[in-house]
Amino acid sequence: MLSYRHSFHAGNHADVLKHTVQSLIIESLKEKEKPFLYLDTHSGAGRYQLTSEHSEKTGEYLEGIARVWEQPDLPEELLPYMQVVRRLNENGRLRYYPGSPLLAKHLLREHDKLILTELHPSDYPLLRTEFSRDERATVAREDGYQQLKSKLPPQSRRGFMLMDPPYEMKSDYEAVVKGVVEGYKRFATGTYAIWYPVVLRQQIKRMVNQLEATGIRKILQIELAVRPDSDQRGMTASGMIVINPPWKLEQQMKNVLPWLHKTLVPEGTGHTLVEWIVPE
Ligand code: SAM
Repeated sequence: MLSYRHSFHAGNHADVLKHTVQSLIIESLKEKEKPFLYLDTHSGAGRYQLTSEHSEKTGEYLEGIARVWEQPDLPEELLPYMQVVRRLNENGRLRYYPGSPLLAKHLLREHDKLILTELHPSDYPLLRTEFSRDERATVAREDGYQQLKSKLPPQSRRGFMLMDPPYEMKSDYEAVVKGVVEGYKRFATGTYAIWYPVVLRQQIKRMVNQLEATGIRKILQIELAVRPDSDQRGMTASGMIVINPPWKLEQQMKNVLPWLHKTLVPEGTGHTLVEWIVPE
């Protein structure tokens, strides 16, 4: 089942959180000269037009990136991410939004590598076109989870693996944990990040328990809720679970999350969280 299209949600509060964390991890990896691999298991289309029918239909970006875009002073933790957003919108009007692969494309260096997979028949060609002239990138219409078995460890022995499934199938909650275990078996020093939506809190608790039970250490949880937990339909929060985070990430997110919360949720509902699921 592939009915999910990220174009309906691009630039929403969950993307802002995910792409902030993604950009900070990439910037930390760039502090060493040695190249690294960026592996995006669920890439999406790469670029989103916020004035498209899909974006306009939900208007989610208006309560996400549009709120950050309007701010005159940004915390330094947001600069790498927002510089890419600005580059896509050089005339000063917010029209385009970078998905995770495009953000990586702009932030990575010439000697770094990207492996991007996307299964959707409409989004895959868009992604491939976006990277057609980028020799650093391998773009494939293949199962993202499979890459964690077949592409790791990277030659450079440095890497960041982003897992961002749509969770339209409940099996994704278990598949991300299995994916991490498979990747970790082959490449225990890599940084792995799992994005998750909070629709039913119980599903996230189960996923966190399963991760704890793997015996893997250094697992950091970062979350931004825009509403209190609820058993009604709809996403109330989203988060990133990061395995082997760069040492600065915990503090960086503690610095920036209150600002993001205030900016994205002016009504003040919800919460933020930066907590170790398993410490070192
Ligand atoms: N990571 C993207 C970003 O931040 O811009 C958004 C990705 S979106 C949440 C999830 C994507 O995963 C969808 O485009 C969907 O078609 C794709 N997908 C679903 N199952 C997949 C699989 N097993 N392997 C690769 N891609 C998959």
